[in-house]
Amino acid sequence: MNLLTFDIEEWFIEQRHNGRIEKYAEFDRYLDLILNILDERQLKATFFCVGEMGSLFPEVIRKIQKRDHEVGCHSNIHTWLNKMTEVECREDTHRAVDSLEQCIGEKVKSYRAPAFSIGESNKWAFEILAENGIERDASIFPAARDFGGFPRFGQKTPCIVEYNGVRLKEFPVCTTVVLGKDMAYSGGGYFRFFPLGFIQKEIKKSSYSMCYFHIGDLVQESHGVMSKAAYESYFKEPGTVKARYVRYLKSNLGKKRAFPKMMKLIDSIDFINVKQADKVIDWDATTVVKI
Ligand SMILES: [Zn+2]
Repeated sequence: MNLLTFDIEEWFIEQRHNGRIEKYAEFDRYLDLILNILDERQLKATFFCVGEMGSLFPEVIRKIQKRDHEVGCHSNIHTWLNKMTEVECREDTHRAVDSLEQCIGEKVKSYRAPAFSIGESNKWAFEILAENGIERDASIFPAARDFGGFPRFGQKTPCIVEYNGVRLKEFPVCTTVVLGKDMAYSGGGYFRFFPLGFIQKEIKKSSYSMCYFHIGDLVQESHGVMSKAAYESYFKEPGTVKARYVRYLKSNLGKKRAFPKMMKLIDSIDFINVKQADKVIDWDATTVVKI
């Protein structure tokens, strides 16, 4: 099975960090292009949305819901979970789920942490997700990556994750071995880096794939290297010159052709969303990963 997911935050991030309101129309246009091709292909995706968008940009969230896609949660204000205390994370998750549920009038059951930020140091996040009625999680990146990842998780296909008596259905990022190294290939910067033919081949030969996109990952932006203050406020890490240049290069890699490349991928693979996948998986037969 091949899962298609989008993380929806650009409108909120733009309002909070840059304030260029003319950008909203551009994001709307890209979202419409995505929704239209999904309709044409009769595919449903999961859109993990930042909670605050439920009150600040409800029309964006409702447009996604109206086209019958799944609305999932992508935290409240896109702060990475491993940068929050347990108390802050509990508050953030509660606000996010509440805001989205008020917006769409139905229960939100799927979740993805910003930047896949659930790992060894904050496994307690699973308890918080369960307390808020989340049943399906897509936050595990089971390989090494910048800013975390959870290489020891070990499972690269849907499984049950168990922590402190709480169980959730987990949909991890899929990986493949490249030059002896376990790597993601089906979303974010990895999607931009690898050739489309390679990605299609990997997806077709696997029994499970998880594709993930941000509109901001795919649209060319000419913004320069972040200032030290902006970097530190966003990433909550020291904004050294090296760190800021590496981020700049990685975030712009392969952007020029990324959007049409994603549209071609959608046109060539039969995707389903997380909610649909939940129904077809025989959960009793899947691995239970105790963390
Ligand atoms: Zn995000």
